[in-house]
Amino acid sequence: MNIENEKYVLRCVECGKVVKDECTDRCPLGHNSLLRTEYRAEQLTVRNLPGVFKYIDFLPVEGHLPVDSGPITYKSEGLSKELGLKNLYITFNGYWPERHANIKSCSFKELEVLPTVVRVKEKCKDTLVVASAGNTSRAFAQISSVTQSPVVTVVPECCLERMWTTQETDNVCLISVRGDYTDAIRFGEKVSSLKGFLGEGGAKNVARRDGMGTVLLDGAVFMKRLPDYYFQGVGSGTGAIACWEAAMRIIRDGRFGNVLPKFCLSQNLPFVPMYSAWKDGRREIAADIDMINAEASIREMRADVLSNRNPPYSVAGGVYDMLCDAGGMIECVSNREADDAGRLFVSAEEIDIDPAASVSVASLVKAVENQQVGSTDRILLNVTGGGYERVREEHDLHRVKPLLGVGAGAGVEEVRDEVYRWIGGRRG
Ligand SMILES: *Cc1c(COP(=O)(O)O)cnc(C)c1O
Ligand SMILES: [Zn+2]
Repeated sequence: MNIENEKYVLRCVECGKVVKDECTDRCPLGHNSLLRTEYRAEQLTVRNLPGVFKYIDFLPVEGHLPVDSGPITYKSEGLSKELGLKNLYITFNGYWPERHANIKSCSFKELEVLPTVVRVKEKCKDTLVVASAGNTSRAFAQISSVTQSPVVTVVPECCLERMWTTQETDNVCLISVRGDYTDAIRFGEKVSSLKGFLGEGGAKNVARRDGMGTVLLDGAVFMKRLPDYYFQGVGSGTGAIACWEAAMRIIRDGRFGNVLPKFCLSQNLPFVPMYSAWKDGRREIAADIDMINAEASIREMRADVLSNRNPPYSVAGGVYDMLCDAGGMIECVSNREADDAGRLFVSAEEIDIDPAASVSVASLVKAVENQQVGSTDRILLNVTGGGYERVREEHDLHRVKPLLGVGAGAGVEEVRDEVYRWIGGRRG
């Protein structure tokens, strides 16, 4: 295999095997491990490109899209004063034109969509299939509305209201599933097994992770060094793993310090499987201990985008390994604490934020109260979503309507012909 001329290669975290990327997301030797990108470039050069593509040196793509969506870091004044922190930095992922934050789908899921779409176009040309409860599917729909590249999204019926874009689009094949998030994921897997279609890949998708890792890159570039602590509300933990990997790259760069940040993750009670397993010192999540009454618990949580039942926690290169390697903790936060923290954030920073981001603000409030962080520590707070009110003020939001609807547990035959007909009209 000739890999000398590649911009990057993929390495299995478990066995170290190196492979050339062909939209590959699994070790060819079959390990249950994440693959990790290794870039030829040791140092990060910030390029004069839009949005996340500023960091293209550390993205698994050659080309870019003319879309100005990316993370925006600034030094907090309002919240910083409220909490008595001297070095609190906020990386805002959402829509906030006054700070040039231009993620119109309003969450950091859009950071993954951009490199994912380019990588698939460059490497395999299949049509992407995405199943999600809302934010990921909306982010794909938004980018599809701008770039005209077709995408299939599978969303549970209850979450259809989250499917909107700022530009009308007929490039999204939205399939509504009468069931919950897990049913939507299962049906999405069936659609992605159709010839010419490819599942987005979740945590295993290196473009997804490296896109989300731009949060850490943007923070480090702005701070001119690595933070001491990284705070984020987690569902799958993919975004945090991504920032850990980006931090390792930034250490290799040599100009940003050589100590990994400690990862302070938070989950929303009552559904807190990773918190529960980590607290017990276990690498495995046990459904009968960590996810009792899952359905009912998920219904109760404010930030239901944090309700992943199958997070990459135990897998090699996943959340457990990250916390062991970098250090850190997982905190749990009640709805009440998240609501209070959300209100504090809005009044201090003057922008609305996603409930999932309120969870991480609440965990920061607790860490200050418990003196787990000190007043001069350098803290990077990942505000994973926000600006929903601002985007509504500035743009007309267009509903994405389902093209097809299926019951939970449906077979792919129910939609196959129509999906092929839909894509046939778009592949040209
Ligand atoms: C998905 C999401 C998260 C959680 O991210 P993970 O990578 O799944 O841990 C947090 N906040 C928002 C707004 C999200 O959409
Ligand atoms: Zn392997």
